[in-house]
Amino acid sequence: MAYLQICKKLHRYGILFKSLPEYQGTFSRHKCAGCAYELGYFHAINGKPKATNDSVLAEIPHSQAGHVRHKDAFTAYKEGYEFALSIAKAS
Ligand SMILES: [Zn+2]
Repeated sequence: MAYLQICKKLHRYGILFKSLPEYQGTFSRHKCAGCAYELGYFHAINGKPKATNDSVLAEIPHSQAGHVRHKDAFTAYKEGYEFALSIAKAS
């Protein structure tokens, strides 16, 4: 079950996530912001529309440690999406 997955990736965006707001909601609070960032990035480079709410995070793993814990994963998703767009514009 995807809901019980725990993220074991070593996200190289750890520094970035320090600046994300703490998320105090009930749904995506324990989602991995690193995976959310990558999901946003891949949505952008694959031409998918940017998600409008955090239901897009339903399939990504939870996180238990590091900078990404308790960060706002949906904000991370949007930042990843925007980052991919900024790269596309620059190239
Ligand atoms: Zn992750």
